[in-house]
Amino acid sequence: AKSSGRGGFAFYDQEQTEYARQRVELIAGMRHAIENGELRVHYQPLHCLVGSRMIGVEALVRWQHPQRGLVPPGEFIPVAEDSGMISAIDAWVLEHACRQMVTWRAAGHSLEFVAVNVSSRLFSRGELDQRVSQVLQATGLPAACLELEVTESAVMDDPDQAQALLERLRALGVRLAIDDFGTGYSSLARLKRLPVHKLKLDQSFVAGLPHDKDDLAITRAVIALAHSMDLKVLAEGVERAEQLEHLRRLGCDYVQGYFIGRPVSHEELKLS
Ligand code: C2E
Ligand code: CA
Ligand code: CA
Ligand code: CA
Repeated sequence: AKSSGRGGFAFYDQEQTEYARQRVELIAGMRHAIENGELRVHYQPLHCLVGSRMIGVEALVRWQHPQRGLVPPGEFIPVAEDSGMISAIDAWVLEHACRQMVTWRAAGHSLEFVAVNVSSRLFSRGELDQRVSQVLQATGLPAACLELEVTESAVMDDPDQAQALLERLRALGVRLAIDDFGTGYSSLARLKRLPVHKLKLDQSFVAGLPHDKDDLAITRAVIALAHSMDLKVLAEGVERAEQLEHLRRLGCDYVQGYFIGRPVSHEELKLS
């Protein structure tokens, strides 16, 4: 560390060192978490507005830390992404969620699919289709019962490679959704050719409904765009009845959010 005469620099160095130390600790902790079974999956209902029923659930990872308690993904996914740990985490979540779905189906529940998040890192590696096909085979889950959520920015990062990978995934028979839609920069020409089933409208646009004019205009435009391309739209982050009513009126297909149900463990999830 540079110990310059100016306290500011020395302080900055100390902060950097502290940050680096915490990061190394976090990465080691995540490795330990995977090996020692500290990861959990919570499931959040995805609700169909037309049929008024739960059609699927989204799998969301949690870390049951021995000292810190339940750690939300926002606190470790970013570090997991740039350290490479995310591949191991996503692989674990994928397999775990597929096994859970097999159990639900065997118990006669009418859930159509479980949705799993795919990090941009795993997505850009390209062998995702092989991993997915292995997990489907190992668990015996029909491909149509699995939905993969890929963020808009991951797709638009390298659209040609993404297109090819999405086509291979589609050929396996899994469902595909574009996550956080509206926060990336999709070209419409590209979007039209992507073999996806669903756009998930980012919750930042839903937050301002129904009063914010911009959010309302964007929501209406995304629904129209999706429907013109024969895609379904799910609105994320629905927290209030008036948002739900408005989305229904706008012709939105599916909703997800605290108003319908929070992410919960499989034991707490209320299934019919
Ligand atoms: P996401 O994929 O957009 O997931 C939705 C997030 O919004 C979840 O946060 C969920 O709990 C939260 N949410 C749901 N309804 C509402 C609502 O009504 N209001 C508000 N304010 N929030 C709501 P969570 O579980 O903390 O996950 C955050 C992000 O972490 C996810 O965003 C996703 O990008 C990432 N993530 C979670 N699990 C995984 C995973 O297994 N793999 C990867 N690669 N990423 C994951
Ligand atoms: Ca998601
Ligand atoms: Ca999202
Ligand atoms: Ca606004």
